[in-house]
Amino acid sequence: MSEYGKVAGTRSTPQTEPIPGSSQVANSAGGFTWAVSKWDRLMRFLVLGAEGGTYYIGQRQLIKENAQAVMDCAAEDAERTVNILIDVAETGRAPKAIPTIFALAMLCGHKDMRTRQLALAAVPRVCRIGTHLFNFLADIEKFRGWGRSLRRAVGSWYLTKDPRALAYQITKYQQRDGETHRDALRRSHPAAKDDSVNEVLRYAVGKLDVPGEWLGSDFPHRTLLAAVESAKRVETEPEILHLIERHNLVRECIPTKWLNSKKVWGALLERMPMTAMIRNLGKMTSIGLLSPMSDTAKKVVSVLESQEALHKSHIHPFNVLLALTTYNMGHGVRGKLTWSPVPQVSDALDGAFMASFPNVVPTNKNWYLGIDISGSMHSAIANTHISQSMAAAAMAMVAARTEPWFCAYGFSSRSGGWGARDVGMVDMGITKQKQLSTIMSGTPRWTGGSTDCSLPFQHALENNLPVDVFAVYTDNETYAGTPHPAQALQEYREKTGRPAKLIVVGMAANEFSIADPNDAGMLDVVGFDASAPTVMADFARD
Ligand code: CA
Repeated sequence: MSEYGKVAGTRSTPQTEPIPGSSQVANSAGGFTWAVSKWDRLMRFLVLGAEGGTYYIGQRQLIKENAQAVMDCAAEDAERTVNILIDVAETGRAPKAIPTIFALAMLCGHKDMRTRQLALAAVPRVCRIGTHLFNFLADIEKFRGWGRSLRRAVGSWYLTKDPRALAYQITKYQQRDGETHRDALRRSHPAAKDDSVNEVLRYAVGKLDVPGEWLGSDFPHRTLLAAVESAKRVETEPEILHLIERHNLVRECIPTKWLNSKKVWGALLERMPMTAMIRNLGKMTSIGLLSPMSDTAKKVVSVLESQEALHKSHIHPFNVLLALTTYNMGHGVRGKLTWSPVPQVSDALDGAFMASFPNVVPTNKNWYLGIDISGSMHSAIANTHISQSMAAAAMAMVAARTEPWFCAYGFSSRSGGWGARDVGMVDMGITKQKQLSTIMSGTPRWTGGSTDCSLPFQHALENNLPVDVFAVYTDNETYAGTPHPAQALQEYREKTGRPAKLIVVGMAANEFSIADPNDAGMLDVVGFDASAPTVMADFARD
């Protein structure tokens, strides 16, 4: 029995029982919560993925459950479902494309013909780069065979590009998941009406020897193919540098033997897309190109500080966070590479994380940021080295840096069974000025114990905190307390007279939420949806 649970009757129900008369369902931890709508479920899957599972749900089971959510959405409104996939792909709302592509492949094999047609027509839009097409081809065989409509959809991925763009895709993204362009083209055999496109396709299936004189051609696709072929053969550094500078070759087209050269990386960096740049900061530091006070350091920092460059690249905040935490570790997650981080680059990545969200206007409301630091939040997000509680702390930092008035606490439980790990409420030291890496590296130390998501509301009431909006970052697997979080919020509202709202920031792709769907003052958003901070501010403001 919680020391706080003093309200009577059905207004104080243990979390291990459903609130009487409610539509609550059992969560995976032995508590009762609500189920989010199928559309919220779909967004959680697309943004957070099911890779690696959660603390409570294994990967296979989680993928199966999320696949069911995709099917449920398609059954209700196939067009809306496919449009969501297109929107997520084109606006960069999700850190990884894999869940969206998996969902698209499922719908391409749907038993309903119209659903299949809508999904197949979306293939060139959802699969934005060659790697996505390979992910799709690896998935599609689980759901259907190579009929005429699939051949046409895959063929259109190739035929809807101009010759130079197609040559770029084919030479930059050569293989993934055991798939190659040669195999994809042999199965789909698209017939190109355009001679130039046809040349690129013949090159991709290995049926075209590129003549050396194409290097001086007036056709951009020919010069690119010739440059890629020359790069395989050149013997000297000035020659490879010339090819990179003259023909904008990307790293994927440079033979490995050149990839420890400072000059080669310097030339690549001049034209490197933002996503590639942030992924290769460690590499460029380890070979001594990116060194303290160097011109390269100044260039990298100025790119990271450029709002325009960030927004043009559609880089996702979670990927900036991955780059930041990896760079600050000083070694790769895999492999033997080590480096000493350049401080200004670390700082610029910290700023880029904030700037990679769409611009959020402060609401000037009073925000209570509650971060679930119970043991289950140790689970990794999408098989990365970032745990759910670290990610939750980073998302709370976004609110802390945006809003003038907030308080922030971690919580686990006061009444659970893990003894000393049940710390209750913890001041994690979140301030506007704190560095993200400081907050994130401190988080695992706090994380542990059982879960009581009602603590933030009880804590606010006990301390007379005048809260307008509670934002609770959690996997929603609450069980260790009385009353339910929604009941604790109701008590806070009644006793303070403040109509406080609740935003649940979901950090796991399960179907649970502590938010009551029938309470208009409660909202579910998906942690690490790039649009989440804007949606939260709009909801707080209404
Ligand atoms: Ca937990």
